[in-house]
Amino acid sequence: MQIKTLNLTKFYGSETNKVIALNNANITIKQGEFVSITGESGSGKSTLLHLLSGLDMPTKGSVMYNDKNIYEYSDKEISVLGRNSIGFIFQQINLLPILTAKENIVMPLLLDKKTVDEEFFKSIVELLGLDDRLNHLPSELSGGQQQRVAIARALVAKPNVIFADEPTGNLDSTNSKEVIDLLININRMFKKTLIIITHENSIAKRAEKKYCITDGIVTRGDIAHEMR
Ligand code: ADP
Ligand code: MG
Repeated sequence: MQIKTLNLTKFYGSETNKVIALNNANITIKQGEFVSITGESGSGKSTLLHLLSGLDMPTKGSVMYNDKNIYEYSDKEISVLGRNSIGFIFQQINLLPILTAKENIVMPLLLDKKTVDEEFFKSIVELLGLDDRLNHLPSELSGGQQQRVAIARALVAKPNVIFADEPTGNLDSTNSKEVIDLLININRMFKKTLIIITHENSIAKRAEKKYCITDGIVTRGDIAHEMR
């Protein structure tokens, strides 16, 4: 699955309080690529990720998945794309507190009335080091373990593309490194496209392709200017 944007633009508000959150972004992401997106707070990173993943509507421009503009999809087609092809990891870990780790992980499949591929399930929980934590509630897990459960949940439906919006923003440096190493392993082992938003240069520089955003303008480049 190749993802390509054409003049992707998002305005918020109108007239007097208009914000240009994303300004004519043209980016290309190949299947299996590891891409980082950096930029200051408020520069448009989350806006870009939400538009790339079909979570929000652009004001102008298109997002092509293999040459088909997802914003010409029906609501049904876009939700199928989201459920089958995309895994999204949020900065705020949003596990359901009354469900165990295992129940949280398989929830997307249950909602879709799909069966769990036990072998694949086992391989991801082993990789994420969650095998002995599956019956724990989120409140009984550390922050890093909770984020690993959220990662497993994003992977369980075998998406082609994983989007992560500052996935380590709420973790300490040890857990942060661990989570990023795991995501990169998953990118390599399963050939999944990985698109990470990050503030941290140490993470961004590990990506094969790097973009940075300044006031809604996306450029190819190593480091956002405030990090130089
Ligand atoms: P980042 O993720 O880089 O911090 P965002 O993409 O969340 O930035 O936001 C980009 C700009 O758009 C910011 O100026 C933000 O205030 C504005 N913005 C984001 N979402 C909304 C919204 N729903 N309504 C109005 N303005 C918004
Ligand atoms: Mg953001």
